[in-house]
Amino acid sequence: MERGEKVHWADVIAEELIATGRKQVVATGISPSGPIHIGNLREVITADAIYRALRDRGAEDARLIYVADTFDPLRRVYPFLPDSYAEYVGSPISTIPDPEGCCKNYAEHFLQPFLESLDELEIEIEVYRADLMYAKGDYDEAILKALRMRDRIASIIDEVTGKVTSHDWSPFNPICKRCGRLTTTTVTDFDPQQMRAGYICQCGEEGEVPIRGGGKLTWRVDWPARWEILGVTAEPFGKDHASAGSSYDSGIRLSKEIYNYEPPYPIPFEHVLLKGKGSMSSSKGVAITVSEMLSCIPPEILKYIMIRVKPEKHIELDPALPLLNLIDEYERLDPASDRSKELSATEKSLRIDIPFRHIINIVQIAGFDAEKALEVIKRGGYKLDDLEIIDRYSAYARSWLERFAPQSLRFELQEDVPPEASEIPQNVREGLNELADFLTQADLDAEMVHQEIYAIATRLGIKPKELFAGIYLALLGRRSGPRAGWFLVSLDREFVIERFRAITT
Ligand SMILES: [Zn+2]
Ligand SMILES: [Zn+2]
Repeated sequence: MERGEKVHWADVIAEELIATGRKQVVATGISPSGPIHIGNLREVITADAIYRALRDRGAEDARLIYVADTFDPLRRVYPFLPDSYAEYVGSPISTIPDPEGCCKNYAEHFLQPFLESLDELEIEIEVYRADLMYAKGDYDEAILKALRMRDRIASIIDEVTGKVTSHDWSPFNPICKRCGRLTTTTVTDFDPQQMRAGYICQCGEEGEVPIRGGGKLTWRVDWPARWEILGVTAEPFGKDHASAGSSYDSGIRLSKEIYNYEPPYPIPFEHVLLKGKGSMSSSKGVAITVSEMLSCIPPEILKYIMIRVKPEKHIELDPALPLLNLIDEYERLDPASDRSKELSATEKSLRIDIPFRHIINIVQIAGFDAEKALEVIKRGGYKLDDLEIIDRYSAYARSWLERFAPQSLRFELQEDVPPEASEIPQNVREGLNELADFLTQADLDAEMVHQEIYAIATRLGIKPKELFAGIYLALLGRRSGPRAGWFLVSLDREFVIERFRAITT
């Protein structure tokens, strides 16, 4: 690949993976325990970039999988949950009711919108639900092995973490039949023939559960067990899992020493930070969800934001103006020479030759009406006549304006003379009247109107700044707005002339 620049990080990883000679399974795993935000999404986008790079190198049998940790226990009552959810803390999220009552269970409620977003991002991923894997028996062998080798596993974890596991620790956590928790039970014995495990629970219950579906491996054991079950060969994970003594460290040893499996190639990735707010976290309420972001920008841009940065570097995201600049940056790149763009591309990617910053003005002038926007675009001298594209970009712009736009970029064309127009001084009103005369001419472009505004100001001895303010006050009811020459030619000419006349008489 002759690109005259450094090889992309996804290609570097793909090369190394192919050199191992294994059939490649790139895995991701995100717990749907709350709204899935774009910090979480980095994991899947990173995996998808590697998967695409593998396929580009002829690894036709490579797979991309997502294990949804639907069997994880609820850790605590997050701020977005009602207090009544305290009773479910410690229960698997697949067994807890949906907090909004619309889906089959708690896990599905947060999983569904995420899966829809992956669809929109055109990330084709095989989805596994952990609760179903346990229920189907995928974990049977791994659980039995873990129960048999309990002492060896405990000492490996002790060595890695420098802590001492308690005498009644078990790699398997039964789900209590009375209280529904799996964080409060202790295994008392197990019967590999009957495939059952006895337990006692802090709630006072004593009983037994089937090994298949009746409980879950603890996270440090679940992860390496899953590598072997699914044949995972590469996995990106948040750097928190990668520090010394972490679950990846114990995972490596348990994989080799208990499950006789070569651990996957690790791809630790850094956090996505929100400008001025720090690391994204759903539980702290500092996060932009994936679906929220996809309402503001095209999917290929969201991928590009992640893929252009090496996984080991953090991403600081500013959803205000810098986000718009990124969209325009992306549009200017040639996918033939920019690998990040090539890896981000979607089938439905639309080319639009109008800077996104400009779209923001167009849709506001048009009052978010696609037909009107089409006229504004034509008058402004752009060539774009596809209503579907305009509709889609209009929706992005509207959503961005509502959520992330600085106040200075929001405006509304005033249907009637706004009260603020009374602030316009008399000499500026005369200037607007002359401008109205000028605008009666045919074939004017933005530059000609712009020059004329300066010429009028000079003739009448007023500051250009004052005349500009007058234009905006008359039309928007505020002292600033989009570039005046372009703004005036983009508007309906009769409307502008009538407005300026109304103010001067
Ligand atoms: Zn729901
Ligand atoms: Zn219990």
